[in-house]
Amino acid sequence: MLEQEFVTMEIGKTKHIALVAHDGKKQELVDWCDRNKEILKGHFLCGTGTTAKLIAEKTGLPVKGFCSGPLGGDQQIGAKIVEGQIDFMIFLWDPLEAQPHDPDVKALLRIAVVYDIPIANNLATADFMLHSRFMSEPYARKIENFNLTIQQRVERMK
Ligand code: PGA
Repeated sequence: MLEQEFVTMEIGKTKHIALVAHDGKKQELVDWCDRNKEILKGHFLCGTGTTAKLIAEKTGLPVKGFCSGPLGGDQQIGAKIVEGQIDFMIFLWDPLEAQPHDPDVKALLRIAVVYDIPIANNLATADFMLHSRFMSEPYARKIENFNLTIQQRVERMK
């Protein structure tokens, strides 16, 4: 395990889904969740504070809410991805509006790629993801073996 360049982590049959939408995109995401609630109810849902509450109120689905995005919610979700507790994300960021927490948005998108989790940034991708055969079976995602990286860096810097 320590020698392999990559390791795999399983996304189980039941996904741990993060839902995030910027203000200009919230209605789109709430309506999408409502249309797809029969599928979504089989998975664990969470999201940034305002998004999570809006979805929960409209759909009746349980959605665990973190802090609001500009107050660190994106970073909380990023940390959960690192810890392996979130493995699927719908993140409707707004391409037409500047965000005060733009560095956090970038960081969240980056960490989702590092940890090879499926991430949709628009509804078309979200639809394709939700109707993928991988929604009902496990999937092995591929992650750089950071234990090896740390070991190599320590050896180099000793
Ligand atoms: P919010 O945060 O759901 O609390 O509005 C979303 C964001 O802007 O990242």
